[in-house]
Order: sequence, then C-alpha cells, then structure tokens
Amino acid sequence: MGDIIFWTLIRTAITIPVIWVLKSYVDEQLWWLISIAVIYLVLIHPAVVGYKKFEEKSKSILDSTLCATCKHFDRSAVLCMKYDKHPTEDYIPCDGVDWEPK
Ligand code: SF4
Repeated sequence: MGDIIFWTLIRTAITIPVIWVLKSYVDEQLWWLISIAVIYLVLIHPAVVGYKKFEEKSKSILDSTLCATCKHFDRSAVLCMKYDKHPTEDYIPCDGVDWEPK
C-alpha cells in the first residue's frame, strides 16, 4: 500500500510541472482536456490498478493466515504491527509464538 502512495506522489510531483509548462504551448480549452486526460491516465488509473492488485494479493492472506486473527495484525496494511513485517501465506514473522486473539 505504501508503494502505491509513494509512486502516486512521485508521479504527481512530475505531472504537475509538466502540465503547468504545457499551458504556455497549447490553447486553454485543449490544455484543460489534456490535463484531465493526463491526470486520469498518469495518476488515477495506475493508483486504482495498483490498489486492486494489492487487494487481490492481500485476499489470500486475510482469508487464510493465522495473522489475520491476531490482535497485532493491521488488516488495512496487511502488516504485523508487533514485528513491523508483512506476513505472507508461507511466512508468519513470529512463527505463531506471539499470536493473541483480537
Ligand atoms: S504477532 Fe505473530 S501472529 Fe500476530 S500478527 Fe504478528 S506475526 Fe502474525
């Protein structure tokens, strides 16, 4: 999830100056259309696709791991907050030793 936010911010930091510079080269109405298209294609669409992939990848972890039932687990970030690590289907950071019910 952090990757999605990070790369969206990077793309935003690059896109805004590019759009701003473009304003002096094209007609204003065309500039608005281009700006909206660029914002959607470069910022919004990749973020939505990245989030959907993150959700798909997380679904199996949320459905079938021990961590999903632990009080130290943050479902939104798919993160063990006690160890600050991401569990997977094959990897439980504490090996089950520190599991506590919610
Ligand atoms: S403490 Fe152990 S069981 Fe609980 S979320 Fe972290 S790794 Fe998973």
